Amino acid sequence: MTSRWRGVISLVKPPGKPSIHSRYLDEIAGYLATQNQKPYRAKQIVDWIYEKRVTSFKAMSDLPQDLRMRLAEEFAFDNLETVRVLGSADTTRKFLFRLGDGNLIESVLIPASPALYGERSDRRTICVSTQVGCAYGCKFCASGLDGFSRNLNASEIVQQLLAVEKASGERIDNVVFMGMGEPLANFENVVRAIRIINAPWGLEVGARHITVSTSGLAPQIRKLADEPLQSRLAISLHGATDEVRDKIMPVNRKYNLNTLLSACDYYASRKKQRIYFEYILIAGVNDHEEQAHLLAGHARRLGARVNLIPYNKVEGLDWSRPSREKQERFLTILRGHSIVATLRREKGHDIDAACGQLRLQTKRREETPAGKI
Ligand code: SAH
Ligand code: SF4
Repeated sequence: MTSRWRGVISLVKPPGKPSIHSRYLDEIAGYLATQNQKPYRAKQIVDWIYEKRVTSFKAMSDLPQDLRMRLAEEFAFDNLETVRVLGSADTTRKFLFRLGDGNLIESVLIPASPALYGERSDRRTICVSTQVGCAYGCKFCASGLDGFSRNLNASEIVQQLLAVEKASGERIDNVVFMGMGEPLANFENVVRAIRIINAPWGLEVGARHITVSTSGLAPQIRKLADEPLQSRLAISLHGATDEVRDKIMPVNRKYNLNTLLSACDYYASRKKQRIYFEYILIAGVNDHEEQAHLLAGHARRLGARVNLIPYNKVEGLDWSRPSREKQERFLTILRGHSIVATLRREKGHDIDAACGQLRLQTKRREETPAGKI
């Protein structure tokens, strides 16, 4: 082989090792069996990761040295790099992380969240990302503005919890998949992450305290309904007619309202649990009274609850939230139809807490050529 070729080949990345944070306990046990290791070692390993929170195989001091070395050869032990942490007056904190390949993602910690998803109001909620960017391009959303780069793997989702708990010193007991990305477009990794987050040997967050949010991927909603998971589902509806949804959410042209609501019917019938509708209020776009009446009809059909969220301004976009009075009027109409609905008194508004915004800002800053800042 010539030296020139050797140089080229060394540039080819070896196939990545699976991350230990994306493996189930029984998969780790299966690997150990192939190595003629004692079965109880698997539990020791997950205890080191999820209870004692070590950051390397090396630190697993009650494992034999050669096993630690073999594990490090077989599995990656990744740790997210924290790039920025922003905290607001009401203590909502936003974390920007860099992944191994340089991509940026963000998570938000909301220490005492209002009881939006049926949980107690003193729960500490984390909002996690599932993709780098988003391919769905909703017109109002910062995550979609920059297109889609890639799916996160299960490990990168699980690690957002580990990193935020470590940085904040707080235990998270509520998880919402409402950060950057469309969770149901990254189905396998999201379901795997949910299982690890929920597992008694993992992060032990109750399934009913894990909520997946989707912009309306009807076939995947049906698929999720068939999974033996008790996590909750939130639908980003944002419009009660095709006319409104078509304008702001391109996904509606693929799966229209009827298709989406039928998938929700199926989900509700399989899971015997309540669905949540998320409805951002955007001035002059979806805040007409007629929309409130129609939304109430959809919610009644499904026994769904409605969370109204005043739109959070995104730099570079022209949308804005309606007046407080209009927001309250929308809520009153829903309640007049006996729908259980809340209006979010937005937390974290001052730190760009809506999904994708911090990443976009940082990315733009990093991409700005020197001298142009
Ligand atoms: N892709 C999924 C989950 C991530 S978005 C989804 O769309 O459901 C999480 C929630 O944040 C969605 O309801 C989304 O519509 C909402 N959102 C996006 N941009 C927002 C903004 N600027 N202000 C308020 N909510 C926003
Ligand atoms: Fe993607 Fe959700 Fe943002 Fe739409 S609202 S662009 S689906 S992250």
